[in-house]
Order: sequence, then structure tokens, then C-alpha cells
Amino acid sequence: MTTNPLLQTWSASFGLPPFTDLSPVHFEPALLEAMAQHRAELAALAEQSQAPSFDDTIAAFDRSGALLDRVAAVFYNLTSSATSPALQAVQRVMAAPMAAHSSAVYMDTALFARVDALHRERGSLGLNTEQQRLLERIHLDFVRAGARMAPAQQLRYAQVMEQLAALTTQFAQNVLHDEARFVLPLPDEAALIGLPPSLRAASAQAAAERGLSGHIVTLARSLVVPFLTFSQRRDLRESAWRAWVGRGEQPGEHDNREVARDILRLRNEQARLHGHASFADHALTDTMAGTRTAVQGLLDEVWPRALAAVERERQALQEVMAAHNDSTELQAWDWRFWAEQVRRERYAVDDAEVKPYFPLDSVVQAAFDCAGRLFGLSFVSRPDVPVYHPDVCAYEVRDAQDQVVGLFLQDNFARAGKRSGAWMSALRWQSRNVAPAGGPPTLPIILNNNNFARGMAGEPALLSMDDARTLFHEFGHGLHGLLSNVTYKRLSGTQVLRDFVELPSQIFEHWITEPEVLQRHARHWQTGEPIPAELVARLQQAQRFNQGYETVRYTASAMTDMAVHALTDAEPPADLGAFEADLLAAQGLPAAVGMNHRLVHFQHLFASSGYAAGYYVYLWAEVLDADGYGAFTEAGSPFDAAVAQRLQRSIYGSGNSVPPADAYLAFRGRAATVQPLLQKRGLVEPASA
Ligand SMILES: [Zn+2]
Repeated sequence: MTTNPLLQTWSASFGLPPFTDLSPVHFEPALLEAMAQHRAELAALAEQSQAPSFDDTIAAFDRSGALLDRVAAVFYNLTSSATSPALQAVQRVMAAPMAAHSSAVYMDTALFARVDALHRERGSLGLNTEQQRLLERIHLDFVRAGARMAPAQQLRYAQVMEQLAALTTQFAQNVLHDEARFVLPLPDEAALIGLPPSLRAASAQAAAERGLSGHIVTLARSLVVPFLTFSQRRDLRESAWRAWVGRGEQPGEHDNREVARDILRLRNEQARLHGHASFADHALTDTMAGTRTAVQGLLDEVWPRALAAVERERQALQEVMAAHNDSTELQAWDWRFWAEQVRRERYAVDDAEVKPYFPLDSVVQAAFDCAGRLFGLSFVSRPDVPVYHPDVCAYEVRDAQDQVVGLFLQDNFARAGKRSGAWMSALRWQSRNVAPAGGPPTLPIILNNNNFARGMAGEPALLSMDDARTLFHEFGHGLHGLLSNVTYKRLSGTQVLRDFVELPSQIFEHWITEPEVLQRHARHWQTGEPIPAELVARLQQAQRFNQGYETVRYTASAMTDMAVHALTDAEPPADLGAFEADLLAAQGLPAAVGMNHRLVHFQHLFASSGYAAGYYVYLWAEVLDADGYGAFTEAGSPFDAAVAQRLQRSIYGSGNSVPPADAYLAFRGRAATVQPLLQKRGLVEPASA
């Protein structure tokens, strides 16, 4: 019928996509066909003559669009992890039609009439808790996509959403362009001074990947951050820093300054069409926090304490600079370098001493082992299944009864064509709501992407403590997808409220710093010796140093996000750079610190809408993870079986089937308090026992 492999039956193991047969030309026709099929399914659903029931409307809606889900998931995974100019072109072409399809679905009057009728009668339909939750979630999805607006407003709303889809795609591609374009050559030994062997190797490899000889620094985070940490060449650090913070504001066709303003203008209009004064007000109505006041309350708890901590750290840096007879003024491109000196001199912690104990494979096995001890999972390598790139490792995931519960794909290395950062995604969500009814449940296919540097010739990839923590973080998201135990697709895995989604990931980070996990898994890659207990102690001491820096940078970005999205004027500020600079000067951000992300390259906010007015969510969830991990501490073991079982059932397994505050309460037995977060970050003294 068709030669397009995306539209044929996917016959590989686990129903994996036919990766090896795919080419960028297959996506546009497959997405168009999948959208047409979805529309036809929904038309049949909406045209039913009988009065709506939960099963023929809500459960059927949840089942619909299976082909589109499959094809779109492959598409977005490839555009993130293995993109190409041809695939980027398809992405630009398809952004608006995909948004238009979504608007058409959620603005379908006949369909919404059935959903709305059921929603009005929801108390008397005899639904179980998860069915109630699904009905409310789907109804809210319709309302938030404009289902209740008048026809003229709906027309405009759909245009706004299409334009936003095109602009956010452009924003992300512009950042990728600026990251790929910049190369800082390190032509001789004098340019390499201070760089540890692993970083020299990584910078040589980056050059080789671009067909250059010698060494270079690019704007890949895995390269530029270590360079700023270790390079003794202040002038080169400054060049790298300026290029890094200048992403997105280079004049020319990839300049994001106007793109970001256009997005802000459209978001303000989007919020007004919903009757809200600002985009932040609109976005926060569908979160655990609920209001700007609640978010601001948390930021206000943290900000002054973090400023005080960063001032103590700045003094420590200047003392070490003075001891090195360096009287220059500390600048943003100096901070990481001098912080590393403090770490070495005051805490005797040196990355080069730590990394040999964290070969990538051991950290992966540590994560698997923790998932085994906590939740009974085991991971069986499946090198035989088709994947999209040779870097990807596939694992069949089995539960305590040795039943297969899903497939886990891990893609760990930085490379050209892969966006920076680390993230979890799904090729398929867990679900038991399958057609025909009673068929086998759908098993999840979950991905983790990291951007680690490869090992030097003859060595495995060696991770820093931060890298290891990142791997555990993404693996925590992965477990949220793999342990999902719900009936309905829409409520599965990580599809929870945005300020709850970082709880399963952030709480999992705690295990990589547990001494017994380190003893077992952090073994020197050459000698097999476990990491010395006294080095672990030094690491834990050092862990709190520079938390002020990290907290201030993060919170500054969260405040900027909230401020720019809380504006009520239809027209955004003329100069976003001046807006953020004025705001942060007024808040007292020290010049030598800087932000995690400036607006012109802030992908969380502008590469899609998921984290717009939502960068605060990491801190919100950290209140929960710091408080929640206390349950293990109080039980006396990081692997306490009863606590682990509650964590699995109420947090990792329940997806969005219960309200997040109820899920947390069921796990912890009480609501969370902010104190453990402040202690974890060293912002207050630990409470005396
Ligand atoms: Zn995360």
C-alpha cells in the first residue's frame, strides 16, 4: 500500500520504529497521513448518535491518535538527538500544521460537547478515581486549548498557536546554529595550560569531528564548562564566556532577540484570550503552585540566603586569588576557575582524582542496581534491537517477577546533531487502555539522553560527580516512565504537572552520593579499588561549597522567567537584554556570578512552551525531594523496603492518576516543608537533632 516505512507495520522487537530504513523525506507524508487518520477517528467518535459515555468518549479519546503518537515521537526524538539540515527543514515545515491539527482537535465543537456533557455529570457517572482524573484532565486540555472560546476568538487563538509553534522551532534552531558555529582554537601548548588530559583529549576530538587539527573549544556544555573551570588563560576564558552568553544575539538571520519578543507578544495575547492579564497567570493555573504568589514565596525564601552564601564564596575566591598574588577583579569568566582552586586547596578535592572512580559503565550499573534494590527492576542488555545511532544502548527492563515491563534506551555521548543538555523522552507511554479492549497492555519505551565526553584513547569515559548526578537525574525520569502503572495513556509516566515532574528525577540523585552505593560501584577503572572513604568524606564536605553560586544563578534565571512572563503590556520590552540586566541589578545579582541562561538562548522558555513561566519548577520539586528523601533517612536505610514501596506506588507508579499533593501525602504521610531544601543547599544550619 505504501513504501513509507513509518506507515507500515513496525515489526521490530518491542514494536520499535524501523530506524534503519528511515530518511527525513518519510516524515512529512507520514505525519500528514497520521493527522488525517486521527481526524477521521475523532470524527467517528463525535458523530456517535447515542448520549456520551465515559467509555465511548473519554476512554476512546485517550486511545485515539495512536499512529500520530508513534510517528511524532520518533520525529521529535530524532530532531533532538540525531538531527540534520534535512530533518530541521521538515521540522520548520511541520511546526504550524502540527499546531493547527492540535487546535482543530480541541476546538471541535461536537467533540467538546460530548466531553463537556460528561464533565458536568462527572459526580454521578460511577467513575473510579483514575477515570475521574482522566475526565477532568481531558476536559481541562480542551478548555486550555480554547474549546470554550467564541468562534472568532478560536480562529485567532489557532493562529497564535501556529505562529508560536513556528517561532519556538526557529528559536531552538538558532541556538543550535550559534552553538555549532563558534570555534575557539587552542593552537599551542600555551593555550592548553591548566587543562587536564581528559579535557585536552575532548578538545582534540571536537577539532577532529570538524575536520580540524589540534585542539578547539566549542559551546557544547560538556566542553565549555570544563574549559572555564580549568583553563589558566584568562583571556581565552573570557572569549569562551562571551561567546557562550552571547548565543542567540548575534546579528543576522539567526538572531533570537526579535524571535523572543514575538513569542512574548503572542503569549500575552494567548493569555488574554483566556481572560488572564499575563502569560504567567495563565500558565500557573495548571500547576501545583497555582499562583505567582506561591512561586514568589519560595523564591523569596531562597534568594536572600543564596545571596549571602554567594558573598561568602566570593570572599573565599578572593582570598585564594590574593594568595596567588592575583589582584584582578573577579569576573564572570573567572568564577569557575577560582572555585576549582578553592575546592583543591581548602577541600583537597580534585576532579582528576575523582573521575577514575566513575567510569560511565559503572555509574550506569550503579543506577540499575539502585533501581533493583529499591523497586526490584533488572536491566538486560539487548544489543540486537534496532536503534537510531550506534551510541544508543538498549535494555529490556524486568520487574521482580521477571516480567518484561518496558524497554530503556540510553544515549550518553555528546556529538554533532544532538542538542545540548540531558533529557528523558518516550517513544511510547505505558497504558492498559488498548484497542481492541482486552488486548495486551502497551509497554513503555523510554529514552535517556546525556551529553558526556567520550573517553580518551584506551580509556573508558570517566564522569565527574556532577555528570554522575545528571545520569541519575535522567534515570529517575526514566523510572517514572518505566514504572508507570496506570490505565490511561494521558495520565502515564512523566505527564504530570510540570512542578511535580522533577520530583522522581531529583530524589533519585540522592542515591549516587550514598556512601554504600559509592563503596559498591565507584571503583577505580584500572585497579578496581573502591573509592576511599576519606575521599568520599572530602567530596561531601566540598559538595556544599559553591552552592550559593549555583543557587543564585538558577534563581536569577527563574526570577527573570517569571518577571518577563508576568508583564501585562501587550508589547514586550524593546530590549530584552536591558530588561534582564535592570531586573537583576535591582535584585542585587553580583556581576561576577551571571545567570544560568539569558533570555536570548533560554531554551526552557522559548524552544517550546512547557517551561515558560516554569523554570521555577526545579526548586519547587526540590522542596519535595529534599523533604521526601528524609523518609529514607528517618527509616535508617537508603533502601528501606517499606519506604521504597510507598515511593514506587505513590510517586513513580501513579503518573498523573492522582493529584500531586495527594500523591506526596500518600508517600510521606504529611505535606513537605522547605527546611530540608535550605539545609541541603547549605543555606541554613542543619537542625540539631
Ligand atoms: Zn529533570
